[in-house]
Amino acid sequence: MRLVSYRANAAWRAGIVVGECVADLERAGRANGWKLPATVRELLETDKNLSAAKRVEKQLMHAARKPRWLMHVSDLELGPPIPDPQKIIALGFNYRSHADEQTAFFRKPIEPPKTPVIFAKYASALVGPRAAIVLPPQDLTKEVDYEVELVAVIGRAARGVSEADALKYVAGYMVMNDVSARDCQFGDRQWTRAKSFDTFAPCGPWLVTPDGIKEWPLRLWTKLNGETVQGSTTGDMIFSAAHVIAYLSRGMTLVPGDLIATGTPAGVGKFRIPERMLRDGDVVACGVEGIGELVNEVRSER
Ligand code: ZN
Repeated sequence: MRLVSYRANAAWRAGIVVGECVADLERAGRANGWKLPATVRELLETDKNLSAAKRVEKQLMHAARKPRWLMHVSDLELGPPIPDPQKIIALGFNYRSHADEQTAFFRKPIEPPKTPVIFAKYASALVGPRAAIVLPPQDLTKEVDYEVELVAVIGRAARGVSEADALKYVAGYMVMNDVSARDCQFGDRQWTRAKSFDTFAPCGPWLVTPDGIKEWPLRLWTKLNGETVQGSTTGDMIFSAAHVIAYLSRGMTLVPGDLIATGTPAGVGKFRIPERMLRDGDVVACGVEGIGELVNEVRSER
């Protein structure tokens, strides 16, 4: 099942993707005799709702006559699938290839970390899969960079879970571009500001539930103006999503809707020779196999 958040008036509402169309979750539930919530995060909060939504999806997929209230996905403004997570937790240095490119760049060995390198992004940076990435004024940063990442979305409260059980707490997966201001990241001594400027977290295009992903590992890529600049697979991760969830949940309660961004592979603009930072007019496409692609235009703040 694929879930979106789409804009209706001033609010983000949950939708189920049915082929090229989207069914409003609450409305589709009502039509099928289920009381379903209006937002994706509320949907994740109970297992009962999630299984009801799956049944509704199945009925819509197989309906001989599609209801008139189905909306075409291209007519909708899609937002971040979870617009209001309590936490966005991200990983640094989680691909072997990304550690290797930094060894080459800094000309000194950058050892892969022994434990996950955790940092935070703020939810105010979230935007949808087609939104613009807005470059902040030049006196704040001149080095805005892209990072394709697989995101695991937490579906059940997790505290002290084992690595073997950890994926049972994942409601689904999506793509994020962990946009980063490199000069702030290295100049600030810590990363929160560099990772949290407005529009620095495009994500989506939808949340895909685990049953929707056929085979691991997944390929992931970034194309900058059509040219492939990042290309790897989730098999190159140093710490798996399951390991990271277990690690975090030992000391921190994870709640439904929390996002775990699992790090980026080699090929980011900062470590390219010559370096290639995002510029006004660029188009960045970040994708993960079996999930989809974010396509975001870059523009300067006006
Ligand atoms: Zn990242």
